[in-house]
Amino acid sequence: MSYTLPEFLAHAVALEHEAAERYLELADMMESYRNDEVSSVFRDMVRFSQMHRDEIKARVGSIELPKLRSWQYRWRTPPEMGGEEGFDYMIEPYHALKYARGNEARAMEYYRSVATESKDPEVRRLATDFANEETEHVAALDAWLARTARPSSTWESDPDPNEASA
Ligand code: ZN
Repeated sequence: MSYTLPEFLAHAVALEHEAAERYLELADMMESYRNDEVSSVFRDMVRFSQMHRDEIKARVGSIELPKLRSWQYRWRTPPEMGGEEGFDYMIEPYHALKYARGNEARAMEYYRSVATESKDPEVRRLATDFANEETEHVAALDAWLARTARPSSTWESDPDPNEASA
């Protein structure tokens, strides 16, 4: 996929906005279950996403951005979560972190693929920067996952080699 600059910027703004909104939900959820430690991780991620979104908006300036469809940037819930039980499932900090990690990884892969496939040098340059930023977010969440107890009864089929045997 070779994006034009406006197409790419539209995706980037939408991705960061979506991330900020989802992290805010996760932070509030962790807080309501008195997990202040993980809540503050998510609040930091809210701030990073908002800052990044605002930087990208500054870069957009007066460029007119195309409208996107929500599936092009919305976060995906893991299939294990499904339907009504989703909320209960996310109460586990491990699952919430894993959910965020999966979506950060998607953003990272998106930016990486644009960085290698776009024909526009400015798009490639920005996408490379953004991919590096997302790589740091994935690493930060991995570090948290490594020290978060993994719920015993779920995600048995998850082949994650970094699992904490808590
Ligand atoms: Zn991120």
